[in-house]
Amino acid sequence: MNQRPQVRPTTEGWTQAKDETGKPRLQFAEPKRKQPPAHWADLSVDERVEKVKELGLPGFRAKQISTHYFTHYTDQPSDMTDLPAAGRDELVAQLLPPLLTEVKRLRTDKGDTIKFLWRLFDGALVESVLMRYPGRITLCVSSQAGCGMNCPFCATGQAGLTRNMSAAEIVAQIVVANAAIAKGELGGNQKGHEGERVSNIVFMGMGEPLANYNRLMSAIRTMVAPQPNGLGMSARQITVSSVGLAPAISKLAAEELPLTFALSLHAPDDELRDELIPVNSRWKVDEVLDTAKAYFDATGRRVSIEYALIKDMNDHAWRADLLAEKLNARGKGWVHVNPIPLNPTPGSIWTSSTPFVIDEFIHRLEKAGIPTTLRDTRGKEIDGACGQLAAAN
Ligand code: SAH
Repeated sequence: MNQRPQVRPTTEGWTQAKDETGKPRLQFAEPKRKQPPAHWADLSVDERVEKVKELGLPGFRAKQISTHYFTHYTDQPSDMTDLPAAGRDELVAQLLPPLLTEVKRLRTDKGDTIKFLWRLFDGALVESVLMRYPGRITLCVSSQAGCGMNCPFCATGQAGLTRNMSAAEIVAQIVVANAAIAKGELGGNQKGHEGERVSNIVFMGMGEPLANYNRLMSAIRTMVAPQPNGLGMSARQITVSSVGLAPAISKLAAEELPLTFALSLHAPDDELRDELIPVNSRWKVDEVLDTAKAYFDATGRRVSIEYALIKDMNDHAWRADLLAEKLNARGKGWVHVNPIPLNPTPGSIWTSSTPFVIDEFIHRLEKAGIPTTLRDTRGKEIDGACGQLAAAN
């Protein structure tokens, strides 16, 4: 068989920020910034009751307000006729300040995918992508404005980290998506889908969710809390995707929530992964795979390995074999692989593997007993696919 070339990651058309030692810069802490206004969805159930009492209202008002926001997806005082009319506008403005301003919305031809561009209170821009599939509706949400992980193939990281999103800013993306669905704005096959809403969440929008751990968990607790106190979603249908911050993965495993965990591996060898996923300089392939396996052991949830297939860079047959070997070395049945053809980002070396190579890669994994499913590139034509989300507007 012909030896294929080894293309190495480099940036084209932009310069990757470097630290003092010349390595790609990693930003774990957010720059000092003004924080978004406190919102109902930032609070726990008990804190909400305390809050209304503090404002001189009886505790039962908390449940009414939660019902409006988490069940009827509204933050408009005019919808809240069960609250006393006197002072209602002021009350709602204080408890449910607007967090997301719609800047733009792009839809695919069929209308079954919508990309939302949101402006946050401080002008930061983030995106979410709503997708209808047979039997489920998935929302891809952002957890940070920008990202500090600096992966050279991902559009979001190119400008670095602006700031962490608040728990309420994360939850609000789902609330507005549910409101849009309720108004019939998501196309595709809608017949007989009365009362439908977002069923699946993937933290695959902008940002590294595990670098914003506390707000992420606060948002997730509200997502899984039964209505009216939360969105009543199933933890199993929520996927947290990470570059592999090993200590945070261990923390997630200890939360006793059956969340789905996805690891953005993209290379089974440290030599390449050091360049593709700069955080690999901290937590190497073997360490992060051990941690992912421990996640499965603690939660019983099968881990997903994300692998963007990049032409002549990480798509060689020997890498499929090495990946299978490393996964099998840690046991059977604990993991599956989700290859995805790289979505185009600017630069000639950043192109998707060819269909033949993709098939061969998948075939080798399957032959080694690793369940493997090619992920779709939904939203590609509206720049709404994985890795394409950027604040360029
Ligand atoms: N920071 C998290 C979540 C956001 S990215 C993470 O890295 O997992 C969500 C997924 O999209 C990750 O697997 C990421 O590696 C992948 N991705 C980034 N750029 C991509 C691109 N251009 N094509 C395909 N997938 C990409």
